[in-house]
Amino acid sequence: MECFKCNGKLIEKNVNYVVDLEKTIIIVKEVPAKVCMQCGEQYFDDAVAQNIEEIVNKLKELSAEVTIVKYKEKIA
Ligand SMILES: [Zn+2]
Repeated sequence: MECFKCNGKLIEKNVNYVVDLEKTIIIVKEVPAKVCMQCGEQYFDDAVAQNIEEIVNKLKELSAEVTIVKYKEKIA
């Protein structure tokens, strides 16, 4: 699999996924992704993207300014 942007090589890597909402910033740590070695573009599997969406939907109700969670602990 190659990067859609620059055709660079993708490597499997855990990344921090940051969602910047109006009231709160949610950081999901250690999300499994494929990252382009050349431009740094991140790609997520459909299942992972769906899990992130569910995590964010649950957490955005919180009023904390910044919420930090670990991906693995939230998908159990
Ligand atoms: Zn790239």
